[in-house]
Amino acid sequence: MQGLPENQIVGSILDAIAEQRLPAGTKLGEQALSDLFGCNRANVRRALATLAAQHVVELRPNRGAYVMTPSPKEARDVFQARRAIERTIAREAAGRATAGDIDFLRRNITDEARAKASGDKPAELRASRDFHMRIAQIANNEVLHRFLSELTMRSTLILGLYSQHGSSSCAKDEHARIVDALEHSDKEALVALTDRHLRHLEADLNFDARPRSPMTLEDRLSLSRDPAQTE
Ligand SMILES: [Zn+2]
Repeated sequence: MQGLPENQIVGSILDAIAEQRLPAGTKLGEQALSDLFGCNRANVRRALATLAAQHVVELRPNRGAYVMTPSPKEARDVFQARRAIERTIAREAAGRATAGDIDFLRRNITDEARAKASGDKPAELRASRDFHMRIAQIANNEVLHRFLSELTMRSTLILGLYSQHGSSSCAKDEHARIVDALEHSDKEALVALTDRHLRHLEADLNFDARPRSPMTLEDRLSLSRDPAQTE
């Protein structure tokens, strides 16, 4: 399955969205994608339909596909859904984390801090998302894991659009406290810390800010021929 052209396109676009290389509103031209990936337009259309089903791409009649631009209402809905799901995940994860999980999460916090210090935004965003997804994995519920995967992707778009401080990643000390609670199987603390962490992320959103202007697809997929033209 992974080798199919449409799966490669889906994977590349999701990676680019997760790292904020493809911000909300970017046009995803069928011809451009088929040229970039060396596949036919039927593959591209299937990929775009898959991404639309995950609510990260919007198909506009007669205009084509665009990276979804979540409205303020959608942004609030996504964070409310994340709180509901991640509280349940926290409850399930408490008491299940292995020493390997705790090691992974502590290394992840260090990696994220290092990426942030060196200004490596894509690595910082990747680490931040990996942290939340690892806890979902510990909770061992595939359905919640899949929901959270979609919601964290949509969160990245939302944070890219509305985050006041241009920061899209998570506070380091909050992650550290979450790992402490997980390590001590402190279910109540884990749920409370998770909830508070997500409320902090949401509180940083400013819906009065002018959305940042999108760039072209070629540039965002790091395949640009002439970035100067598109900046
Ligand atoms: Zn976080």
